[in-house]
Amino acid sequence: MTWVPGAAGSLYDVDNLPYGVFTRPSEEPRVGARVGEFVLDLAPLAAADLLEIAHALEQPSLNRLMACGLEQLADLRGWLIDVLTTDAGRDSAEPFLVPVGEVALQLPFEVGDYVDFYASEHHATNVGRIFRPDGDALLPNWKHLPVGYHGRGGTVVASGTAIRRPLGQRRGADAPEFGPSTRLDIEAELGFVVGHPSALGDRIAAEDFGAHVFGVVGLNDWSARDIQAWEYVPLGPFLGKSFATSISTWVTPLAALDAAWTALPGQDPKPLPYLAPDSARGLDIAVEVELNGEVIARPPYAAMYWSPAQMLAHLTVNGASVRTGDLFGSGTISGAEPGTQGSLLELTWGWHEPIGRDGRLALEDGDTVILRYTAPGTGGGRIALGEVSGRILPAH
Ligand code: CA
Repeated sequence: MTWVPGAAGSLYDVDNLPYGVFTRPSEEPRVGARVGEFVLDLAPLAAADLLEIAHALEQPSLNRLMACGLEQLADLRGWLIDVLTTDAGRDSAEPFLVPVGEVALQLPFEVGDYVDFYASEHHATNVGRIFRPDGDALLPNWKHLPVGYHGRGGTVVASGTAIRRPLGQRRGADAPEFGPSTRLDIEAELGFVVGHPSALGDRIAAEDFGAHVFGVVGLNDWSARDIQAWEYVPLGPFLGKSFATSISTWVTPLAALDAAWTALPGQDPKPLPYLAPDSARGLDIAVEVELNGEVIARPPYAAMYWSPAQMLAHLTVNGASVRTGDLFGSGTISGAEPGTQGSLLELTWGWHEPIGRDGRLALEDGDTVILRYTAPGTGGGRIALGEVSGRILPAH
């Protein structure tokens, strides 16, 4: 049991320990781990213990740490748990605990390439029904490969960053109109961060997911639906998505999710062998979407059709390499039941049914959205993944 005040049995007990980057006034940004309501300042503590990995912790991003080998990362986690649960550890570590309210959390890693998938059958079906009511809800490729597109890594921002309403073109009665988006939306997703890179020309087998993915972040893929609807044919999402993508400031290492793996809902027809359908697993992560303080949806990640390992295997099957800091999003998380959809587009069924006490269709200026995520922890309770918040600013 941990000696950290209030941490035992909390959502940030020692079976969680996500990593982030923090700053304090007039100090350099560096790597910390969250425990209870504290950030443990890892770099000086690891240096005092003469850990070789200390150099990777005195960094303004997690990239150096994420690129370390699996064995080194497991050793670091073991050392951290030891420090946080023993009397000897308390003597050395207590001076390096900082209340989380006294630090400024940063974008946790330098984002490389960003890919966004479309892995929820319920979401893809809902969108298909709303946009193509007379056609098949799912397009012919959807159950054979995890559909995705390349997004914009340079506009991925940390939770808490205000989101400026984008301007753009949308379809008009006779001619296109230009102006602030009138259909600003969210997409509640999970993001996966690459630690160990791959070489150009190599493929990452589905079973090697854990050797390349460092951890998981909460992700909100802000979407301007009016811009998107006009521009996306035939090459896919562009300016309707690229203005901002928010991620949590905490990165949950895969080791903290050992108890969260679960069977997929089922894949029929069976995907091709490189997608390793017989060993594919999903994640039992519960998501909450809060709009202006009111929970408006509870999407279940366990309902996702494609597994994270299948997404990475597909992303590299053509020999495309991945780098430390590459990010791939799951796509909007939507379940089958009412109130489990991860976008306003679906929750309002195509802008027809206002939701919440404010009767929202799309986001208005001043609205705040917070995504929260919890999962079963290895200690028997639940752990929290980092939350993702953003407030909408007026266009300029
Ligand atoms: Ca998306």
